[in-house]
Amino acid sequence: MEPTENLIVILDPARAEDFQRLVDYTKRGRLTAEKPGAYSCVVALMTTPNAGVKFRVAANTIVRPVEIRNVVGVLPGKDKDRAAEMVVFSSHYDHLGIIEPVAGDKIANGADDDASGTTAVVALAEYFKKKNDNARTLVFAAFTAEEIGGFGSQYFSRQLDAKQIMAMFNIEMIGKQSKFGPNTAFITGFDKSDFGKLLQRNLIGTPFRFEPDPYPEQNLFYRSDNATLARLGVPAHTISTDQIPTDKRYHTVDDEIETLDLANMTAVITAIARSSAGIVSGQQTPTRINPEAVSQRP
Ligand SMILES: [Zn+2]
Repeated sequence: MEPTENLIVILDPARAEDFQRLVDYTKRGRLTAEKPGAYSCVVALMTTPNAGVKFRVAANTIVRPVEIRNVVGVLPGKDKDRAAEMVVFSSHYDHLGIIEPVAGDKIANGADDDASGTTAVVALAEYFKKKNDNARTLVFAAFTAEEIGGFGSQYFSRQLDAKQIMAMFNIEMIGKQSKFGPNTAFITGFDKSDFGKLLQRNLIGTPFRFEPDPYPEQNLFYRSDNATLARLGVPAHTISTDQIPTDKRYHTVDDEIETLDLANMTAVITAIARSSAGIVSGQQTPTRINPEAVSQRP
């Protein structure tokens, strides 16, 4: 509830149970990226609104600023003609925190969403550091505040010149098998650049394949951290395996590591390392996304 004036809402006591749920929810406090509004909403439970009833209301809101950070590592490009060109590998490390308890468990672990992607980013950083032959500069980013509106990636994109970013591999929920079976993952916004086709080609002859996002109606292209840079023209796509329309663990306390297929997840990370080789070495450059073909509404 974000009232634009002070409100008193009269509620039928028959709705007391629903109201109690709302009370429990608001008591937990929540993280928002905006300062709270100046107005309060007070709810009174009563059978009939009675004009003669007088209210005296005191409301108290505690606002505590929380400092949050992206975690970013940079592997400078080894080719001085290519070092100004960047390739981003990213995920988000925040999740939902403490939510409505289910069978005594109130911790939303976020193993798939998005510790799986964050694991990929760390593994890729280790891999490319060991190889140490990247012509382009590689940026490994674990974003914060994705779940409350993508604020970490929005801040990140303002620190860089989007023109210098050649591609973004955003990795979101790769812990379970995709609907295409083992050794597959899908790429969102597949037709918006030739990033996906390029990666597909680079995997020919390997057991792994990338597919276009099978759930366009879910708007996944706009629901993850790639969207901000995509709006600026960067071929920025999300790689995922999640069967989101039927994923019962999504955003629940049951998104736990035991539910992940770690062998398949390793295959996804290996495929990202392999298929990105040409982009990392500067031999391949995906086409830019046309910002006019992308919804600009954040
Ligand atoms: Zn996520």
